[in-house]
Amino acid sequence: MAGGTPACIFCQIARSSTSTPLLHSDDRVVAFEDINPSALRHYLVIPVEHISTVKDLKRRAEDYTLVSHMLDVGRMLLQRDVPQSKHYRFGFHQPPFNSVNHLHLHCLALPFIPSRL
Ligand SMILES: [Zn+2]
Ligand SMILES: [Zn+2]
Repeated sequence: MAGGTPACIFCQIARSSTSTPLLHSDDRVVAFEDINPSALRHYLVIPVEHISTVKDLKRRAEDYTLVSHMLDVGRMLLQRDVPQSKHYRFGFHQPPFNSVNHLHLHCLALPFIPSRL
């Protein structure tokens, strides 16, 4: 894609306009596998609405509900897919460490995959 504002890849995934299979989708969030997994299972849960970072979340009940819904979906998917893992990790990037500029919750089922063997 040449010039202009780069399209947000996560917005495209949320609209199902990519080949990325969705593990979950509802009116508020979608979930899919991280393309570069760093654990046994590594999912991302993102809001359908474009929110850049955790800092862009307002102190509103609505946003609070959104975040807890993201956590619920992540936990539900990991418990469904890797019930044998007893160690789940959930986390947002803190700005400025943001790989994609669209809020996403990393959901990991341990053990971690070593980045280098
Ligand atoms: Zn986006
Ligand atoms: Zn990330």
